[in-house]
Amino acid sequence: MRVLLVEDDRRVASALRTALGRRGYEVTLAGTAADALAAGPTDLVLLDLGLPGLGGIDVINGLRGWTSVPIIVLSVRDSDAVKVAALDAGADDYVTKPFSMNELLARVRVSLRRQQAHSDDPVIRTDHFTIDLTKQLVTANEEIVHLTPIEWAIVEMLARNPGRLVTQRQLLQQVWGTMFEDQANYLRVHMSAIRRKLEPDPGRPRYFITEPRVGFRFLAEG
Ligand code: CA
Repeated sequence: MRVLLVEDDRRVASALRTALGRRGYEVTLAGTAADALAAGPTDLVLLDLGLPGLGGIDVINGLRGWTSVPIIVLSVRDSDAVKVAALDAGADDYVTKPFSMNELLARVRVSLRRQQAHSDDPVIRTDHFTIDLTKQLVTANEEIVHLTPIEWAIVEMLARNPGRLVTQRQLLQQVWGTMFEDQANYLRVHMSAIRRKLEPDPGRPRYFITEPRVGFRFLAEG
């Protein structure tokens, strides 16, 4: 597996390259946004958001012009706004520095697996319910769970991106349209309805996870 590592801090870059190399990843290093955009095809991008000159968001925009390769953002900032901007631009996930190498490697594995599995199994089974994306149907204990069209649209978008952090804005745009990007309260209301219908313990969700102030993530394995 090829990893494009975009990081201007040489110490961080070299530590990451060593750790990834040890696990069999073939790492290409880019120290600037321009180098990142000039690099060839890869299987995954690890992207530092704090680059000199053209920033990380520009790299995401540039890459998303031609590839759906998984992009994991490395962010030092605790600003949610920056992370959300990166996700809205098309990043798949983020890890906040300082991160543990194990955490990062786990995210890398999840993203690569998702990319490979992304293909075409239209039926997602969990221990508590099954989502059939073709029939647009959720069942639990062999009974149909009745979702409203909006609840279904939310479940569908999350289920089509298992494990991926989907931002509030992406959901609102997809489900309600661009006029509603700021209506995060809509999402909260519908998400609690979804949890009441599908989560074994709606107060402690294990499938429909909230990432505070950022968005939601569907974990098929609960
Ligand atoms: Ca940096």
